[in-house]
Amino acid sequence: MSVRPPRPEMLIQLVSKVMECKTKAEDYYGVEIPVPKVSYMTGACGGMMVTDLLSNEHELRINTVLAEDNLEEYLTNVIPHEMAHLVTHVIYGNVQSHGREWKGVMSGCYGLRPSRTHNMDVSKVKRTTRKHRYMCGCREHMISTVMHNKISRGQTTRMCRHCRMIIQYVG
Ligand SMILES: [Zn+2]
Ligand SMILES: [Zn+2]
Repeated sequence: MSVRPPRPEMLIQLVSKVMECKTKAEDYYGVEIPVPKVSYMTGACGGMMVTDLLSNEHELRINTVLAEDNLEEYLTNVIPHEMAHLVTHVIYGNVQSHGREWKGVMSGCYGLRPSRTHNMDVSKVKRTTRKHRYMCGCREHMISTVMHNKISRGQTTRMCRHCRMIIQYVG
């Protein structure tokens, strides 16, 4: 699954929300909040704030597929949620990621209900694990793609634990 870059209009909305969250926290706490670098990700996560502890640089990863379908949710919850991680780091240092400090930023500074996870529909981005059907002398075996590839390349064989026959691919 390749990472899809966001539409420019959407990126503008997301970035201005980031800036709004930054300014809000600066006004609330009276400290300077850095602007994170924005990058993109896939998967079932809405977003992720990554802090490089050595360089102290912050990177906000946005799930563009989910953001396309849930822009409203991103602007109201996902971006503040991730920005609250950055704010927490700046103010409290390296504390628990969804601990009371982060919750305090969410409710106190942003006026939002601190919720660890999002409830967006991830069916589109969830990786479906394909299984491959094999047979032995007694039953059907569902084999993962990694194992199936190894078997097809002749790198391994699998024996049934019950009938002790080598399983054969049936498609
Ligand atoms: Zn979080
Ligand atoms: Zn068997």
